Amino acid sequence: MTERIAHWIGGKPHDGTPERTGEVYDPATGAVSGLVDFADTAVVEEAVRVASDAAREWRRTSLAKRTSVLFRFRELLAAHTEELAAIITAEHGKVLSDAAGEIARGLEAVEFACGIPQLLKGGNTQNASTGVDVSSTLAPLGVVGIISPFNFPAMVPLWFAPNAIACGNAVVLKPSEKDPSAALFLAKLWQQAGLPDGVFNVVHGDKVAVDALLEHERIKAISFVGSTPIARYVYENASRTGKRVQALGGAKNHMVVLPDADLDATADAAVSAGFGSAGERCMAVSVLVAVDSIADELVAKIKERMGALRVGDGRKDSSEMGPLVTAAHRDKVRSYVDGGEAEGATLAFDGRGHEIDGDRNGFWLGPTLFDNVTTDMRLYRDEIFGPVLSVVRVPDFTSAVDLVNAGAYGNGTAIFTADGAAAREFSAEIEVGMVGVNVPIPVPVAYYSFGGWKDSLFGDSHAYGPEGVHFYTRTKVVTSRWPTAQTHSGVNLAFPSN
Ligand code: NAD
Repeated sequence: MTERIAHWIGGKPHDGTPERTGEVYDPATGAVSGLVDFADTAVVEEAVRVASDAAREWRRTSLAKRTSVLFRFRELLAAHTEELAAIITAEHGKVLSDAAGEIARGLEAVEFACGIPQLLKGGNTQNASTGVDVSSTLAPLGVVGIISPFNFPAMVPLWFAPNAIACGNAVVLKPSEKDPSAALFLAKLWQQAGLPDGVFNVVHGDKVAVDALLEHERIKAISFVGSTPIARYVYENASRTGKRVQALGGAKNHMVVLPDADLDATADAAVSAGFGSAGERCMAVSVLVAVDSIADELVAKIKERMGALRVGDGRKDSSEMGPLVTAAHRDKVRSYVDGGEAEGATLAFDGRGHEIDGDRNGFWLGPTLFDNVTTDMRLYRDEIFGPVLSVVRVPDFTSAVDLVNAGAYGNGTAIFTADGAAAREFSAEIEVGMVGVNVPIPVPVAYYSFGGWKDSLFGDSHAYGPEGVHFYTRTKVVTSRWPTAQTHSGVNLAFPSN
């Protein structure tokens, strides 16, 4: 059955008839499961107007009331994890445990936002000058836009919306048109938690909806997550219209393996971080940088583990890796596998023939490993965003660091070693925003902030945590004097001084 997936504006599904819609698939069967409405400029206009009206009231709502909504939302999200995970798996394809994992990371961000009274404490100075007091407060921005990617349909909106809402803003979320239903589920939970209608809205669609958000004068900030070309586009266009922007882009994450690493643990980590969620994670490991002396042994151990990976329908408990999100994306990823040997890489493990436990019309591709990859190859340069892992061999630690630092992206990286001094040197010298030491996917906990360097992030603020609160507020400093007969000094045209 094909379900209609409508926008959510002012606390209810939008009932207008869309001019355009998009097909949503069940990636494990290839069947069309839904038709999602695509917003035109008028729909975005309506959502922003509703959000703008709601923001006026919401910013004046006491912190105690806002916090109680966040606590209730946290409880509801935890209680509905299974249901939401099933929605994610049905449209994205990732296995259920992985979908529950992304909700758990989102929950952490909600929990952080539950502490908003502490986070919004301003400053206060008495008697800065005689009889003059100064206080600083953190005010909300108004309406903020969130534009999210397909690969974390719940977690990425949860990186942003709880902080934005806790700070007193209203939100218009434009989720990925490939898996739009998780955003609607979140909208309903916000409503059940007692959030006033209009504070959290969802508009679906593509570039038309995004452009309308980027241009709208009443949207004061944009939080974007997606591929680097679109992140750059969003950053340039939203800043042109005077907005604050944080635009998180793509990645090519390197995992460096030194000869003293525990190779069994390292192989486990490489396979988990390379093929979890079918490699459709911005923090997935896509390049293994192996020091030559251990490369053969490491590749052998990884191949052994890859052979045992169970690929299948994400709804089955037995599946460890699901399908890719769409047929077009699967074909694109597969084209790298088809072309890898022609580029000169060694196809060490071919995922094209991997056993699949699922409908043959699903968007399948098994895990693939290329060895002897070099930095001039497309396999190395492009973000493939699928279950394809490349091994680049280097002679030593210094060449590994140079190689990572020469890359265009700077999202995540990891080093596997038993040498503390080498790990410390790596952490200090590497030009990447998030670094793991024997941790393959170093996503910061919610009370730090998430963000890459270089082509992985455009803007000044990272996502969630303290930087998230900073991003969604602006500081106001009030300088006051309550003159008395004694302090009143009459007309004085001199520049105010202390
Ligand atoms: P995408 O860039 O195709 O889409 C992201 C969002 O932008 C979607 O909402 C989409 O509808 C919209 N969009 C797409 N094309 C557009 C256009 N031409 N103009 C305006 N808006 C457009 O990304 P995706 O395929 O959904 O997600 C995968 C990408 O996201 C990968 O590159 C991945 O690395 C990246 N990602 C990055 C992070 C991070 O934290 N840095 C996290 C998750 C995903």
